[in-house]
Amino acid sequence: MKEDFVCINCGECCKWEGYVHIAEEEIDQLSDYLGISIDEFTSNYTVLTNNRQGLSLKEKKNGSCIFLSKDRLCTVYTARPKQCRQFPYSWDISDSRCPAKK
Ligand code: SF4
Repeated sequence: MKEDFVCINCGECCKWEGYVHIAEEEIDQLSDYLGISIDEFTSNYTVLTNNRQGLSLKEKKNGSCIFLSKDRLCTVYTARPKQCRQFPYSWDISDSRCPAKK
């Protein structure tokens, strides 16, 4: 149940496989936040999704989001995409990989 969720800031959900979809306005938002151009942002921090209809944040070699720091913090937290803001409420919280699940 959603009400049972209390985030423990472990960063695990930022390491799961799968896309972190970003909408056009979020590209603007993240580019502004980082102080770089949209072109620079899209080429350095995004990949085209397999269906070629959208962009996702790049992953590091270990599979974590490109914006997850070594100390498990989101380095773009205030500008993070909607998908991240809505987690876990847009997700199946019964997913046992989330250690905050009660
Ligand atoms: S943008 Fe931030 S909150 Fe979203 S997956 Fe990446 S590190 Fe996690």
